[in-house]
Amino acid sequence: MSSGKIVVCGAGGFIGGHLVADLLRQGHRDIRAVDIKPFDEWYQLFPEVENLRLDLRLREDCETAARDAEQIYNLAADMGGMGYIETHRCLCMLSVLINTHLLMAAQKFGVQRYFYASSACVYNADKQRDPNVTALKEEDAYPAMPEDGYGWEKLFSERMCRHFREDFGLQTRVARYHNVYGPHGTWDGGREKAPAAICRKVIQAKLSGNLEIEVWGDGRQTRSFMYIDDCLHGTQMLTASDFTDPINIGSSELVSINQLVDLVEEIAGVKLKRNYNLNAPKGVNGRNSDNTLIQKIFGWEPRTRLRDGLEITYRWIYDEMVKGGVSVVNRA
Ligand code: NAD
Repeated sequence: MSSGKIVVCGAGGFIGGHLVADLLRQGHRDIRAVDIKPFDEWYQLFPEVENLRLDLRLREDCETAARDAEQIYNLAADMGGMGYIETHRCLCMLSVLINTHLLMAAQKFGVQRYFYASSACVYNADKQRDPNVTALKEEDAYPAMPEDGYGWEKLFSERMCRHFREDFGLQTRVARYHNVYGPHGTWDGGREKAPAAICRKVIQAKLSGNLEIEVWGDGRQTRSFMYIDDCLHGTQMLTASDFTDPINIGSSELVSINQLVDLVEEIAGVKLKRNYNLNAPKGVNGRNSDNTLIQKIFGWEPRTRLRDGLEITYRWIYDEMVKGGVSVVNRA
């Protein structure tokens, strides 16, 4: 176990908050948690670590974050689900400043390991037109035609990590996450992703007695969803390893959005009338993670069954909604 300082950027967010929690569980104590949000908006906040509110788009703030660090996890980005990234392309691309300035700061302070959270959105759109997908292998990112905005930023930043490693010897590691879900994530407000959004809508229908649900697209688009525990395991395993190319960290359990709704209905014990909104953002038609490479290198792949992870996530969102006074009435 490393005894040096571990810096988690984006620690006020979903994956970053869980990573700090997991590092603490493992006994790490020298942790710096960084996010731009006010502390009362962090999804998880641990008083026993050094918490800093910084804007990592700024070079000087990246230097404050990176000083004395042994490892940096860059999980900070302006992002959200399809409803956000398809309508905020410029803001998503501006996250390039975060990774650029963090890499420069990491190099300046001789950081030993630098992890970058990339995304399945880097993959060529032509390979994702059919809901009956062939799962995406790492080489399918090129020739490049990623998701406009968010995906281009991720692909560019992946390459910058590679060149900092090749040219300057900074030990960068890059994961391409495929849809991560779990408790303590965004479930409301416009940045939420499909699993949380569907849990929220099903709970809202159940609590209000209005047994209908709006589904984005025709429900036949396919995806895989990775539970947060698998994401944390894969991230730390990759960061500690000598493997330097971008690698998929994602579940290979493919479901359609209709099947995702079926599962959440089953957990909730309701059956809803589905209204399909064909004008809503829905992303590519089909996407799955090919896990041949991660199996070959690490003999591991995400293994939490979607039904199991969803059940935990559903219960957490349910409690949050009830705690919040069920501000669910009239929500679209
Ligand atoms: P999140 O939005 O919950 O967390 C990101 C955090 O970064 C937020 O708390 C935000 O305030 C912070 N941030 C944004 N701009 C910042 C800035 N200028 N300075 C400091 N902090 C800033 O997202 P997440 O789901 O935890 O994702 C973490 C990383 O993983 C991101 O890079 C994301 O693109 C990537 N990723 C996530 C998923 C997923 O399904 N969650 C999938 C693929 C890739």
